[in-house]
Amino acid sequence: MTTPPISASALFATPEHERFPVCVQVTLNHGICDSHCISCPIGRLNHGDANESVRAEFRLGSRRHMTFEVFARVADEVGRYPHAWLRLHARGEPLLHPRFAELVGYAKGAGVRLVQAFTDAISLHEEKARAILEAGLDVLECSIHGHTKTYEPLMRNGHYRQARENVIAFRRLRDQRHAPTKLVVSAVDQPLFQSEKAQHRAFWSEYADEVIYRPYHSWGNRLDGLCGSLPEARHACSQLWNRCTIGPGGNVLACFNSWSECDEEVLGNVTEPGATIAGIWQTARYARMREEHVAGNYSLPCCAGCRDWVGSAWHQNSYEHLLQIKLGLGGS
Ligand code: SF4
Ligand code: SF4
Repeated sequence: MTTPPISASALFATPEHERFPVCVQVTLNHGICDSHCISCPIGRLNHGDANESVRAEFRLGSRRHMTFEVFARVADEVGRYPHAWLRLHARGEPLLHPRFAELVGYAKGAGVRLVQAFTDAISLHEEKARAILEAGLDVLECSIHGHTKTYEPLMRNGHYRQARENVIAFRRLRDQRHAPTKLVVSAVDQPLFQSEKAQHRAFWSEYADEVIYRPYHSWGNRLDGLCGSLPEARHACSQLWNRCTIGPGGNVLACFNSWSECDEEVLGNVTEPGATIAGIWQTARYARMREEHVAGNYSLPCCAGCRDWVGSAWHQNSYEHLLQIKLGLGGS
């Protein structure tokens, strides 16, 4: 007896997930960050050791922030889906968006169940920390890629002490105000970090609600094979079922790795009249991309050399697990 082929539609966790993405990732800026991480194409760009294709993606004049209007359009729609959450991300540092706290406040006012953001904590000074807590951010994940000796070789920003003090002060302020914001500290689990990983966990466990280690991933193969060898068998990538990424100009993208926003990876734009994330998420074109992955055809330009599917867990998405179970933030 032959096994029937898996249908792409059957891989959605629930009917709600098929109607609307559980995670909408908003790219708050393109190419703006104050760190020089070796594990990130933006960090390499800042440090002058990015490869040529990354340099071309961030050619002079292309660095920009998402406008408030585009963000509001996205937040308004996410707020109508109780199972969905908003992930404030960037091709760079989200807190460097000049209206960051206002964006968070807007999203919460629009009814978004959960708003999460990343930061390297360099600009998380007291005034900004107060504004973020007041705005009602649900989760702040601070990227501290390294500890006393390994931070600087890994993040190369000269601000270890400042970032560390800012995170500790944020925790103190949160507790003083009895604010509900959860604090996560994370690091990329890369070779140079191993000598201090245990000390990092011991130190940050005192201040963070959770300390997590992220797989060393390739950002769509932008790090020139630094992440080790691939398993022989490839599988469909859960990103196409679990996360919808919006570019800084409102483009709905195939993947968070669709940085070049080429025609093959842009499925629509939320600012077009009548366009919705839900409508685009359910298009035949999006469905075809998922079916191709199920069939073992990884023809999207971003997928071709990508190894990030290795860490994209199925139905046990680790970040979902972190939010719902470990941080107790519920969801469907
Ligand atoms: S802080 Fe984040 S965005 Fe900035 S260089 Fe490091 S990993 Fe990249
Ligand atoms: S394989 Fe890579 S580029 Fe393709 S959807 Fe997954 S993470 Fe994105």
